[in-house]
Amino acid sequence: MKKLFYNISKLYGANERGTFKKGHEMQQLNTLENAWMLVENGTIIQMGQCPSEKEIEDLINHSNEWIDLEGLEVLPGFVDSHTHIVFAAPRHEEFAMRIQGATYEEIAENGGGILNSAKKLQAMSENDLYEQASKRVILMLAHGTTTIEIKSGYGLTVEAEIKILRVVKRLKENFKCTIKSTFLGAHAFPAEFKNNQQGYIDLVLNEMLPIVIAEKLADHIDVFCDKGFFSVEQTSLILEEAAKRDIPAKIHANELGLTGGVQTAVEHQAWSADHLEHCEENEIAALQKGFSQNYGGTMPVALPGTSYFLGIPYAPIRNFIGNGLPVALATDFNPGSSPICSIQTIWALACTQMKMMPVEAFHAVTCNAARALRLENEVGSLAVGMRADFFTTKTVDAVKGIPYFFGQNHVDRVFVGGDRV
Ligand SMILES: [Zn+2]
Repeated sequence: MKKLFYNISKLYGANERGTFKKGHEMQQLNTLENAWMLVENGTIIQMGQCPSEKEIEDLINHSNEWIDLEGLEVLPGFVDSHTHIVFAAPRHEEFAMRIQGATYEEIAENGGGILNSAKKLQAMSENDLYEQASKRVILMLAHGTTTIEIKSGYGLTVEAEIKILRVVKRLKENFKCTIKSTFLGAHAFPAEFKNNQQGYIDLVLNEMLPIVIAEKLADHIDVFCDKGFFSVEQTSLILEEAAKRDIPAKIHANELGLTGGVQTAVEHQAWSADHLEHCEENEIAALQKGFSQNYGGTMPVALPGTSYFLGIPYAPIRNFIGNGLPVALATDFNPGSSPICSIQTIWALACTQMKMMPVEAFHAVTCNAARALRLENEVGSLAVGMRADFFTTKTVDAVKGIPYFFGQNHVDRVFVGGDRV
């Protein structure tokens, strides 16, 4: 069953399969004009540009279905490599407290923050959580995101952490878009373990992790390695145990201070280090070292939605790019620090607040974000052999126009594996 997509005025992200871009390469945009794609079994099997009428006729004759994309522009579906979308409730009250001056850390110290989300999630049934999370997946799809990573971490008990990961498993089964799961049992210390941190780490490693492995619930493991959360030593202990079981790491690092999180990520060959609001020369040197090693490097992932919403510094992205590093962007969609579903808004924030050029940020939300999940051979670019995940937009010059006309949804039609969703 071959499906032809034609009459595309401009197609962006026409990179070679497996591409991700570092440093100045992030400025190099690959496009096709008057483009077409032939899709079979969800994968692009042929594509090109400027066909003659005769060629279009031939293509149509050799296809089972043909879809006229009406002269619109096409972008690869966005990849959101960092979200926490399985949560029970918004945290409006903390929003109000922060507006009145309380900091995220002060709220966390008083039992708010992650612990607040955990309490609400523990009380909610798996079915209700599934219903809520699936609405968020639908919302993200409507905003052009076709690959989503989802973390646990609002459970903090064996039962509740497993409940979240089972919800993610159901989402994977029921949605056509690509969904990846991350076990983040080490998101915060529950109140009852405040004075027995090792006790909680033992629970994560000896009780949660075996179930996660037995039920194949996680594609990666994550730790919140930061001031007031998990120390470098505690993070290393958890990542070492995960590595023995071949679970790759993605960690929360350097959101709240220069805590050694980035260095720990590189040392443990993490696929990504996320947040990075506090990064100086040593962190950049550690990331550079990662990309010179065989494991393929630790992708720096910036989360500008969090900086915007919490009023904290933005990751120093220009230093990363200027030092030849790649950069990815994600929403961090969660109820406490970044209640945003739209990569388009993240793209705009990256330009206005972090001084990324629109083209650089485009790569950071497509091929580089795919690399943060080591999926750059499947999604994030539109090339032969890649999944036909893309959307059309009526916005002209979309790579410039989407972050410019910020705050609106530029997505027209969304296709996953060549099927409209
Ligand atoms: Zn996060």
